[in-house]
Amino acid sequence: MSELETVVSKPKQVVVVGGGFGGLQAVRALRRAPVEVTLVDRQNFHLFQPLAYQVATGALSATEVAVPLRSIVKRQRNARVLLAEVTGVDLERRELALGPLPNRRGGGTLPYDVLVVATGSRYSYFGHDGWKEFAPELKSLRGALDIRARILGAFEAAEVEDDPVLEQAWLTFVIVGAGPTGVEMAGQIAELGRDTLRRDFRSVDTRAAKVLLVETADRVLGGFTPSLSIKALQSLERIGVTPLLGHTVVDVSAEAVVVEDEPGGRSEIAARTVIWAAGVTTSSLTGKLADAAGVPVDRAGRISVQPDLTLAGQPDVYALGDMARIEHAPLPGLAPVAMQEGRYVGRAISDRLAGKDPAPFRYRDKGNLATIGRLHAVAEVGPLRIAGFVAWVLWLGVHLAYLIGFQNRLLVLLRWSFSFVTHGRGARVINPQRPSGASDGPQTIV
Ligand SMILES: Cc1cc2nc3c(=O)[nH]c(=O)nc-3n(C[C@H](O)[C@H](O)[C@H](O)COP(=O)(O)OP(=O)(O)OC[C@H]3O[C@@H](n4cnc5c(N)ncnc54)[C@H](O)[C@@H]3O)c2cc1C
Repeated sequence: MSELETVVSKPKQVVVVGGGFGGLQAVRALRRAPVEVTLVDRQNFHLFQPLAYQVATGALSATEVAVPLRSIVKRQRNARVLLAEVTGVDLERRELALGPLPNRRGGGTLPYDVLVVATGSRYSYFGHDGWKEFAPELKSLRGALDIRARILGAFEAAEVEDDPVLEQAWLTFVIVGAGPTGVEMAGQIAELGRDTLRRDFRSVDTRAAKVLLVETADRVLGGFTPSLSIKALQSLERIGVTPLLGHTVVDVSAEAVVVEDEPGGRSEIAARTVIWAAGVTTSSLTGKLADAAGVPVDRAGRISVQPDLTLAGQPDVYALGDMARIEHAPLPGLAPVAMQEGRYVGRAISDRLAGKDPAPFRYRDKGNLATIGRLHAVAEVGPLRIAGFVAWVLWLGVHLAYLIGFQNRLLVLLRWSFSFVTHGRGARVINPQRPSGASDGPQTIV
């Protein structure tokens, strides 16, 4: 390349799809690289998913866990944000197909030199997508607000119900899946009924709320060591949650859940509120990318990537986070995995532009945490296995540290401190614009 060509050549266009944990870190790691970065996301905010359940149970408001992407990258001069859904990818032409843009015009295409895809995962209803209507999930902010409306609405319905059988159905909450999200949700709903709402209602005794945690496996928190699963189970029972281990949900409707604990051994639970926190799969874009590159996906829909997180035969296409699976070295779908992968990819792109060959990605395991209601958590940090108050304090510290934005950290700390003293939950508004089961579309959030 001549000197003149070097001077006038355009910086490489790096397109990052997904402003979640992984994509954002990739963008940030490119802040000093001689590239132009376009961050494309179908929503205008980064959602701190680990605290979505607190929005769903009124402990935090939506704006405390969702931060506008534009404000996150506003100081990064080589980055811009595009609000659009990526609907397809053409690896030969090096361009993405976009859905409608905010001005309601057709999205067209977006060219790239280097592509980073980090579109995360969603819950899988194991082929029963019809259940979604009756059992919303917590993966999105919309899901969290829908769940909040359903939980609070169920207590309101119980308050005005004359028929004791129906009253109990309104006061029965079924959570499907006893991973960290299911356990956290169950603990919070139990405390909502026993503690927060106790004095707010006149006719109904909210302490009569039944919280059932249904899990196919024989223990809760299957990703933790068995001793911590036992501790978590004891804590759940202490705060009034009923775990149904070894039970599989085989049907969900507006009025009931059917569970099976052995072939043919089915029972029906009358429940008006069901929350889905079981099984994950990836977005349709992951499948399209895999097809285009001719690389396999695993049973959870995750695309296979090389040790340097590129797709086989596509050195300029990276996939990371929940949607990707490193061949022969799979990692769990956790925020620290996505974040470390995002940082790695940002550095790898810079290294390659500087003519260096990046070393393969290596994950540094910093541990695993889950909280079970107020004051109790379990933690695995290196060889340490901690349960109880100390683990809970650790959980608080880690979540505050990882929450994006100083203002949000401060607000969440204040909110938690206030709730700690008063046992209250400040965000218990049932959004009038979003009745449960409402269809997609713009919404205001509180
Ligand atoms: C309720 C819940 C609780 C959790 N708790 C914990 C926890 O306590 N600790 C922990 O470590 N992990 C936790 N996780 C897991 C953690 O949140 C994920 O591992 C992490 O979010 C994965 O990051 P990611 O970047 O791969 O995807 P995400 O953070 O999910 O981001 C994906 C982004 O891609 C965007 N997107 C998707 N498709 C498209 C498209 N076609 N076009 C444009 N944009 C698109 C989405 O809008 C989103 O912003 C939890 C997850 C959930 C759902």
